[in-house]
Order: sequence, then C-alpha cells, then structure tokens
Amino acid sequence: MEASKLHNAVQRAKRVTTLAWQGLNHLLWPAVCANCSGRITEASEDLCTRCWDQLLTCTAGDYCPRCGRDASKYGLVAGACAACREQEIHFDGIARAGVYSEALQQMILAFKHDRTELAYVLTPLADAALQGSNFYSDIDLLVPVPLHWTRRLLRGYNQSHLIAKRLKHPRARISTDLVRIRRTRAQPVAATAPARARNVAGAFAVREDHRFAGKTICLVDDIKTTGATLNECARTLKAAGANKVYALVLAVAGQKTL
Ligand SMILES: [Zn+2]
Ligand SMILES: [Zn+2]
Repeated sequence: MEASKLHNAVQRAKRVTTLAWQGLNHLLWPAVCANCSGRITEASEDLCTRCWDQLLTCTAGDYCPRCGRDASKYGLVAGACAACREQEIHFDGIARAGVYSEALQQMILAFKHDRTELAYVLTPLADAALQGSNFYSDIDLLVPVPLHWTRRLLRGYNQSHLIAKRLKHPRARISTDLVRIRRTRAQPVAATAPARARNVAGAFAVREDHRFAGKTICLVDDIKTTGATLNECARTLKAAGANKVYALVLAVAGQKTL
C-alpha cells in the first residue's frame, strides 16, 4: 500500500474507533450538560442546546471599550459611553466575554466553587474577547487579579489565574507580582460604587522585585461589577510604573448602575 493510502486508512480507522468509543462512552455515561446537568444528545458537546443558546445571547452585542457596559458603537463619544463618560477610570480599556446573566453567570459561579473543569468552556470565550480587543498585540504581561492569601488557601485556587494560564498569546507572560495585602469583604452585586471603592482602597501592592515599569499589562478577572477592583489594581500598577493597564473579564455585571 502506498504511503498516502496507508495514511488515509489509518485516519479512517482512528475515526471509526473514536466514534465507537464515544458511542460506548455515551451509553455507559450518558452525556450531561456541564452547566445544568441536563441530558445532551451529542457526545462531543459540553453544553446542552438551551445553555449554548443562553451563552450565545450573553456573549453577543457591542460594548463600551472603556467600561465594558452594553453600548452601541454609535453611542460612543471619544471611545466612552454615556454611563462612563464622567467616571474616573484608571485602566485604559477593557475586553469582556459577555454579560453576567443566565448560563454565563451560573458557570462563573460554579467555576469559583470547585468546578475548575469549566475553564475549558470559559477560557475560549475569554480568548476570543482578548483577540478581538484593540490592545491584544500590545500586551507584555497578563496579571490575574489576586485573591488575599487566606481566601486562596480556603478555595485552593485563584479562578482568574486559571483563566490567565490558558489564554493564548504569542508573547505575554503571566506575572503574580501584584498582591492583595488586605482581605476585603465580599460585597453583594447591588453594593454602591462608592462602597465598593472604599472596600478595595489600598488593598493591593506590588512585590519589591516586580518588573511592571514601562510594561503594557492586561489584568484578568472573572467579573467586573462597578470596576472598583480593576480600578484599584490599575492605579497600583501605574504607581509602580506600568505604561498601560487594560482589563479582560469573563463577564460584566451591573449594567444599569454606575
Ligand atoms: Zn445545559
Ligand atoms: Zn463606558
């Protein structure tokens, strides 16, 4: 048999074996949706049709490149939407995978509470958002928004670091030289912007041997609510000499309130 025919035959055999294996697996372990645990018919899918539909809705739509809220690009003035025009923002731009609702909200919450395997569904969404941003090619460092060490110890991982580790970027490295030096209170989504800002004021610092000076940084976080945490992180990084600080988040919550 000539080489190309042999190659094709091997490929065919591989496909048949894979299909048979998937079918067998499917019979033994009926596939369930990674989000709602409902039955799914397609063995190669991670989510059911309903969850995929919700996810597509959550991740569709234009947003303000300055604050991440829903905004039509025709409503932007000098790159800012009406909601953030008067707001003091220390980061230079933001990319988001979607809005904090329905399937995306449920998955992010589960991801924070032990379901780390959901990174396989969530990271491609974050990757697409980052690659579609206007700062993608400028980034030198990816900086996960840090948890206080006591919280990381309790949870066992930092969900933002798990996402950052799986992002695809030709050059950017991950830096963990931004640290949370004060444990902040967990706040309800409905907490006001001034309350959130007070809660995180002075909560972050950089390690002594950091290499942030002159660098273009992209913060990585799971949820942006009022932006107080990202703002405080960006302020701290700029005080340490960072050139530009952008942000990438899985979801933006609190669309209506400032
Ligand atoms: Zn589902
Ligand atoms: Zn805005």
